[in-house]
Amino acid sequence: MLRAGVVAVQGDVSEHADAIQRAGAAHDEAVEVTEIRQSGSVGECDVLLLPGGESTAISRLLAREGIDAEIEAHVEAGKPVLATCAGLIVASRDANDERVDTLDLLDVTVDRNAFGRQVDSFEAPLDVTGFEEPFPAVFIRAPVIDEVGDGVEVLAAWEGRPVAVRDGPVVGTAFHPELTADSRIHDLAFFEEQAVEV
Ligand code: GLN
Repeated sequence: MLRAGVVAVQGDVSEHADAIQRAGAAHDEAVEVTEIRQSGSVGECDVLLLPGGESTAISRLLAREGIDAEIEAHVEAGKPVLATCAGLIVASRDANDERVDTLDLLDVTVDRNAFGRQVDSFEAPLDVTGFEEPFPAVFIRAPVIDEVGDGVEVLAAWEGRPVAVRDGPVVGTAFHPELTADSRIHDLAFFEEQAVEV
């Protein structure tokens, strides 16, 4: 039984809950999903999902509820996190925006809405390290990853910019893997051995 916490203060929560259930089913692993709106339950979770949405709101609510420190402790304990889009922004080292109090779970800096300024949303077939077929990546007002620290593995790039990264137990994507039926990114974050070993 995998206990998965979906941070549910704001953003696309049910899609992530569905995606992790699908990934679990493919691995014959039952998944119990907890939606996290208050402090106190992160500690019971084996893995965490930080959804997309609006990073300024997510950041503010995480701090107000005291969930931010619990997520940091989860990562310090080496437990996996998948952070997507606004979740990636919140998980970054710096989002170049004083309204986002980043958690520094991933050693990257991001520029909020950078792809979105060019075109609001788009879907792209993405080559991801270890995937045999391209991943259908949905970008919605997506952030661009600017700087990538030494310990960070770039798993995918689009137009020369990193859009999927791994830093120890944390995987971050600029796109929304939960919005397609393809659960390979959830798989990679939570069910592959390197998710705990790196
Ligand atoms: N650009 C949004 C933000 O800054 C994120 C968009 C998304 O999660 N789809 O929060």
